Amino acid sequence: MRFASLRAPFSRLYRFARLWFRHSPRMSAAANLLKQHLQQRQLLGVTHIPLRPDALEKLSGLGRKPVTREIPEARPISVESAPEARAILDNPPPETKKAGLIEVAGDTIEEKLAALRTMAETWEPARSMESLRQTMVFAVGDPHAKLMFVGEAPGAEEEKLREPFVGPAGQKLTAIIKAMGLDRPQVYISNICKFRPAMDNQGSGNRKPTAEEMKACLPFVLTEIDLIKPQVIVALGATAAEGLGMPGSVGGLRGRFHSTSGIPTMVTYHPSYLLREEKMGDGIRAKRQVWEDMLKVMEKLGLPISEKQRGYFLAK
Ligand code: URA
Repeated sequence: MRFASLRAPFSRLYRFARLWFRHSPRMSAAANLLKQHLQQRQLLGVTHIPLRPDALEKLSGLGRKPVTREIPEARPISVESAPEARAILDNPPPETKKAGLIEVAGDTIEEKLAALRTMAETWEPARSMESLRQTMVFAVGDPHAKLMFVGEAPGAEEEKLREPFVGPAGQKLTAIIKAMGLDRPQVYISNICKFRPAMDNQGSGNRKPTAEEMKACLPFVLTEIDLIKPQVIVALGATAAEGLGMPGSVGGLRGRFHSTSGIPTMVTYHPSYLLREEKMGDGIRAKRQVWEDMLKVMEKLGLPISEKQRGYFLAK
């Protein structure tokens, strides 16, 4: 079967979605769904959408006549290798001007985050992965926070309560935030992967998300960063650091600022690591290192630091 396909389908179809909206505001929900679907496909590297000729004709009636060509079948093109895909990425339609980010509707950050959360619920690249469970856990905290923490993925407790960092590791993180002189609701807490990684005989067990699983969700955390614009990001653990583009061990990465989309980013040990070390009776070294990293974060944020805070973990 042969499909008629648009020459520059994404930019053209985005325009159709907008025209459709103006043409018939009652259809705005459908137009938004079309836009979301196109964004999901585009982030997966798909550059052409197969359309029935009659659908093409109807869409053409709403805007300028599209240039069409016959292709045997619309198929994904590797973003790295295809000049056509490269051209779209280098000159994307306005809705996706910043590559890798999701355009969301709304006038305020709160509205945009709510729209992003709704999109995450049905995000096909993650939903279609059998290795991820189905309950989406988004983020929690102040959309205007100066400080953002990024973890790896929700665990059993988080999945139950649909909030990141509420289990034992979450309690440790809350204690760290408190020690910094902040309250949990004053910061923003998110995860690279929005779904709990699945395991055989899962029970309460958790595993780290794979690179593929993180990649499927990455547009969300990048868009959250773009909307919130925190002054500092803290990546909790090597997996979160890798997901944000900083591969390596925490030992090698911690203690200095890196950059995520231009935002100073501190990598430090994951609270679960602190719990494990504590259990083995050797928690103090890792705790001290995390605290040294948090003091640097507090300095960067211009937060007051008391003598007591400076002195935590100093030999008495
Ligand atoms: N660990 C994470 O990385 N994220 C959570 O939300 C909970 C535990």
